[in-house]
Amino acid sequence: MVLRLSTLFLRTLREDPAEAEVASHRLLLRAGYIRRAAPGIYSWLPLGLKVLARVESIIREEMDAIGAQEVHFPALLPKEPYEATNRWTEYGEGIFRLKDRKDADYLLAPTHEEMFTLLVKDLYNSYKDLPLSLYQIQTKYRDEARPRAGLLRGREFIMKDSYSFDIDDAGLERSYELHREAYLRIFSRLGLDVIPVAATAGAMGGSRSEEFLHPSAIGEDTFVVSDGGYAANVEAVTTVVPSELDYADAQPAEVRDTPDTPTIETLVDHANAALPRQDRPWSAADTLKNVVLAVVLPTGGRQLVVIGVPGDRSVDLKRIEANIGLHLSVSGEVTVEAATDEDLKKHPGLVKGYIGPGLSLDAAVLGSKGSTGLTFLVDPRIVSGTTWVTGANVRGKHVFGLVAGRDFTWDGVIESVEVRVGDEAPDGSGPLRTQRGIEMGHIFQLGRKYAEALHLKVLDQNGKLTTVTMGSYGVGVTRAVAALVESNRDDKGIIWPRNVAPADVHLVATGKGDEVFAAAEQLAGELEARGLSVMFDDRPKVSPGVKFGDAELIGIPTIVVVGRGLAEGHIEVKDRRSGTSENVAVVDVVDHLH
Ligand code: ATP
Ligand code: MG
Ligand code: MG
Ligand code: MG
Repeated sequence: MVLRLSTLFLRTLREDPAEAEVASHRLLLRAGYIRRAAPGIYSWLPLGLKVLARVESIIREEMDAIGAQEVHFPALLPKEPYEATNRWTEYGEGIFRLKDRKDADYLLAPTHEEMFTLLVKDLYNSYKDLPLSLYQIQTKYRDEARPRAGLLRGREFIMKDSYSFDIDDAGLERSYELHREAYLRIFSRLGLDVIPVAATAGAMGGSRSEEFLHPSAIGEDTFVVSDGGYAANVEAVTTVVPSELDYADAQPAEVRDTPDTPTIETLVDHANAALPRQDRPWSAADTLKNVVLAVVLPTGGRQLVVIGVPGDRSVDLKRIEANIGLHLSVSGEVTVEAATDEDLKKHPGLVKGYIGPGLSLDAAVLGSKGSTGLTFLVDPRIVSGTTWVTGANVRGKHVFGLVAGRDFTWDGVIESVEVRVGDEAPDGSGPLRTQRGIEMGHIFQLGRKYAEALHLKVLDQNGKLTTVTMGSYGVGVTRAVAALVESNRDDKGIIWPRNVAPADVHLVATGKGDEVFAAAEQLAGELEARGLSVMFDDRPKVSPGVKFGDAELIGIPTIVVVGRGLAEGHIEVKDRRSGTSENVAVVDVVDHLH
């Protein structure tokens, strides 16, 4: 149906609304797509809903294409499942809570892992039922601290969230890959440039996670990229030692007592105490010289990180061994044995620091020096269970690590952690630089956390109850609408990518004669008959200037003007993006636009 501006529920605004801080917010308000209802809470007007529906339908098609099935949960949820996973507490002030008349606690869902887990538990009980992927396009509520960027950070917003259920790790990996590919297709169809970046280092339990970041100066995420395609969120990036760092005159740090479960602050203190003077305090990630690759080796509460040099994505164990005097072997299992005194003698100038025995730490970082050789910081006394500390910089925080005692074994996947700006990317794809981005989507291998907390188990091939492994995957639907505007606009207004525009053609009738309106009316009908959606500015008493201004503000990609040229038998066809226009003979217009 032709959208007629004479009756469309729309008022465009001439002035920039004072409340709007970012361009997308300003333009969506001015062009009449949304209205503010409360901070971070918006109403959708007819034009906005059209765009939203098109974004949603692209997402639906791609979710359906990977076999995910659509369901729909309530937004109003009982507390109990969120208590079982501890998120009722963890969310703190981040969620909206309410009570019913019987004083029972409820929340407005910030995300739905618990509910999906319970639904599957409710209905499925065998490995034969899996794999399964379910999704919904649903309203989420988060009491964001700074809901200032319009739809980009709403307190009520729409998310497509999906959840995969598999019997084993290989299955989860497949479900994750399917979602990853689907997300790339979704963003490409939306016309939204995104870069998938590693979102976490995976130091804790090795779950894989990636965010899809849309490069934008107003983005709240910082990530490192190379021109050759390397990308990682700085949250996933661990840093290392500046190349100019000289250990030669370093002094051993004093031995201190630490609590059994050290806080990060305690650890940092110790790490700093253990560091050579000239490197205190650790500088920010982007001032460091070396990119390193770290390997996190979790084992029985202790972890070891081995660091390689730039361009060294797969750790060169031989070189590391040569440098640290430890024997390492990686093939599903890593064994680290303590260095001997003799080993140590071969590496003079090692820095030593101690944090006392018996600590379980998150990561151990061995320093790298220069880009060719490695100087590892190793305490010979790890044999006695004493741990060695050195520092690294993670997200501006000082994190350090240790080498744990003997018999350090681990089997699992090596997680890599990259570092540092200015040098070659770890995969050799060019120098790293930082960039800002807007998080458009996030995919996550949850593993068994939720299934365990909520007892989602199915019978495996041998009739044994097995905990299901899960993934969760989110796309910000309303955020996508805003991000599209951020990247598709000029000083006159929005320029929608064709796939999401509220209509294909913005038809403007200008002039006084009935003839013009009749011709435009007919053209509108013909275009719609050919499958193009038309917005028709049929307002009789509005000046051409206002009509053109509105057309540019609203941002439909093709503007067709039926006006003065009609007498000479032509119609003007303008491309909103390039600004170019051409005269097309009336008889050819439909074919031309089709
Ligand atoms: P952010 O880091 O921006 O706060 P998040 O990591 O908290 O996002 P997730 O929990 O990963 O978000 O949710 C999945 C997706 O939902 C995000 O990638 C984003 O596109 C969208 N999203 C999250 N919070 C908001 C919000 N307040 N307003 C609009 N979209 C949001
Ligand atoms: Mg958030
Ligand atoms: Mg985030
Ligand atoms: Mg996220």
